[in-house]
This record gives sequence, C-alpha cells and structure tokens, in this order.
Amino acid sequence: MKKKNGPRPLLLKILPFLIIAAAIVFLHQTVSIGEQSDTVSGEGAEEVTVDSISSLASNIGDQLEATATPTPTPTPTPTPTPTPEPVDEALLLRQTLDDISTHDMAGYLSEMPAEDSDIVSTATEIYTYEQMAKDIYFLSQRYPGLFFTNILGTTVDGRAIYEVIIGNPASTHHVLIQYSIHAREYINTLLAMCQLEDYLKNMTAGALYGEKAYPDLFSDICIHMIPCSNPDGMTISQLGAEGLRTQEAKDTLQACYEFDVASGRAGDFDTYCRRFKANANGVDLNKNFDVGWDIYAGGPTQPSYEGYHGTAAASEPETQAILSVTETYPVIVVISYHSEGDIIFWNYELEDEQLLAFNQQLADNLAMITGYTKRISKKYNASLSGGCSDYYVWEEGRIALTIETGQDTCPIRINVFPNIWRDNQYVLPMLASLYG
Ligand SMILES: [Zn+2]
Repeated sequence: MKKKNGPRPLLLKILPFLIIAAAIVFLHQTVSIGEQSDTVSGEGAEEVTVDSISSLASNIGDQLEATATPTPTPTPTPTPTPTPEPVDEALLLRQTLDDISTHDMAGYLSEMPAEDSDIVSTATEIYTYEQMAKDIYFLSQRYPGLFFTNILGTTVDGRAIYEVIIGNPASTHHVLIQYSIHAREYINTLLAMCQLEDYLKNMTAGALYGEKAYPDLFSDICIHMIPCSNPDGMTISQLGAEGLRTQEAKDTLQACYEFDVASGRAGDFDTYCRRFKANANGVDLNKNFDVGWDIYAGGPTQPSYEGYHGTAAASEPETQAILSVTETYPVIVVISYHSEGDIIFWNYELEDEQLLAFNQQLADNLAMITGYTKRISKKYNASLSGGCSDYYVWEEGRIALTIETGQDTCPIRINVFPNIWRDNQYVLPMLASLYG
C-alpha cells in the first residue's frame, strides 16, 4: 500500500479514501514503509504489523507496575477527603489561592452557552485557563458520562493541571496528547478543547468517520488529553504579571526579565511576557525531561523566558504531571502539540528500526490528514535536549512526535485558528482508526 506524498491540504477532502486505505492496511496487517521516507532507506526497514504494535503495547504494559487500569473519577463529582488521609498540600494551595478548580462550578452555569451553540468559543483573541476549566465543566453537563476529568498536579502559582480522558479507559490502547507546554503556544489549548467538543458531538450523533460510527471507532482506544500543560506560563503570556497570584511567581518573573534584559534577550516588559515560553519558575518545560538533561548546554543557566532546563530533570510539577499519565497507563503513543510552522517533527534518529517504523507510520498518517510537512528531528544533543517527545522515544521506547501548528508568530492570532482547526479537526478519529 503506497502512501501519498507530501503536504496536501486538500487531502482532507479525500479522507474517506484514506480511512479505507487504513482499513486495507490493517486487513493485510502490514504497512510497507520506506516508500517515501525523508532519510530512511527502504532497505532494511522493518514492516509495521498489528502484531508488532500489540507487542509494543504489551511491552509497555509490562513495564508498568499497575496491572489494572485505574478507573478515573467522572466529572464533576467532588471527592471528599477522608479524615485519616494525609493532607493534600496541592489542594490546600489551590484553595488558598482560590483556583477555579476549587469552586462550585454550578455557580457558572448561567454563563453556559445555549443548547444550539458550541460551548468552546473561538471568537475571542485569548482563550484563558479559567475559560478552559469552565468549558470542561459545561461539556460535562451537556455530554454527561462521555468523558472523564482528572487533576494531575498543581503549578507553583496554584493552578490545576487538567487531564481529559475520552474513549474507553479499560482499553489497552492508550494515547497521550499534551498541548501548550510552551506558554506562548496557547492557541493549541483552544485546539484541544475544540477537538474535545467535536468528539463529543460526533459521539452523541453517532457520526461516521470513514465507515465506522464514532462509538465503535473509540470503543477500543483511550485518549488522554492535557489541554493546557503549562497554565501559569499561558497566563503570563496572555495576561502578563497581573495574571499571577503569588508574590513568589511575580518575583521570579521579574528576576527572569532582569536577567534576560542583561543578556540582551528581552525588550519591553509587555512584549517579553507575551513571548514567554517557560513556566512560573522560569523553566522551559520542554527541556526539563530526563533525556540528555545532564549534557544540555544550549540555554541559560538560570530562570529565563525560554531555554532554562531547571534544577534537575523532571523538577517541575508540569513535567511530573505529564509523566504521571504514562506511569499510570500503558500509553503507546505520545503527541506533543507546539507552534508554529505547520510541521510534523518525527524520526529523532532512532536506532530501533521497529520503533522508527512505528514513528514513521504515525508521521505519515498525520501528514496526510493535516497537510503538514514532515521534518526530521535529530537525536537529542548538548544544544537540544530534555524534550518531551525525545524523552518518550529514546528513554521509554514509546511512539512519540511533535506537531507544530500555525503559520504565524507566537502567540498565534485568533484569525489564524480556522486554518489550524481545518488541519487538525480529524486528528483524534485518525488516531482511533490507527490504534483502536
Ligand atoms: Zn513549543
């Protein structure tokens, strides 16, 4: 089965054929690779088979200590803390700082859009953390029982890191997608929420993707979405220092600014905040993963708006939140959404041929439905390491890659969003057809 070559936005129109093609691929239980690889020779490349994907899944499953898949708590049931349990410091912090995750969400119901309108609005220039939290609640009210939410951790400025779980949590095929790990790339949080609402609408309507109805399509896959992996940083980029709650975070931001001005890396303060990529500790979260962390010499050695890798690998609560998902579930695939460029970074110069073939299979399918350009990401090195995708392919042997959305300068303007949506609307159902 040869695949189409190159970026072709119009490919969305021939999506049904692609699905049929994917079905044929699976019927034959084989995908011939190497046909259109950017660097990988067809010779010596292994075949990707359903059996080998299952074996990868089973290997990953074996690595996990937990044998049973934990059942997530349905939204929005608040769990009362039993008295003998240890104190939940993160919850206490959120309560002290009045984070929206501690509020009685029913109090916001008057803001919920009418039944004939979408809940997630693409009309405003910035889509905030608070709006995301409200919309997750509103969606749980409109589509009860169709998805689950979980709070993976709390940031230093007291924001909850939300996880949304769709599909079938009891499935052995788990996929993790994290969005907006870089603060100024917050347009992808809006994308995540639109993908979620689109999924819920299609599940309810029993809509078809190719020849399969959504409930069937998602019956043997579970997708974990982290719509905002860096809520503090996103708030800095959207609202500036005034968006921060703790004096500690404000002081850190000021110290980052002074350091970056002294290093010639910053101009005026407002622009500096808008262009912020790090978290509220001034750590670039996509340099904080434990892959080549020790050898990194590509950025500043103290907190900054970008490039600082932290005091230790996985030192940051946001990094730990992402890792907690793959520690809990047998995740086969990890996708990281970034901006900008309309690019799919894959390959990572993997030496494991089977994993490289899996990586290429996903990159090819994503390139087909998004129309984005595939580009080789090099193996991590001293100037570029600590990345999320690099960590998962190199250190954990999972399929992982990075999607860079949008043709604009970050933060990407809302008038570019329709293009991002057009290109990424079918990513979730494509993943379900590929791995479900
Ligand atoms: Zn990024």
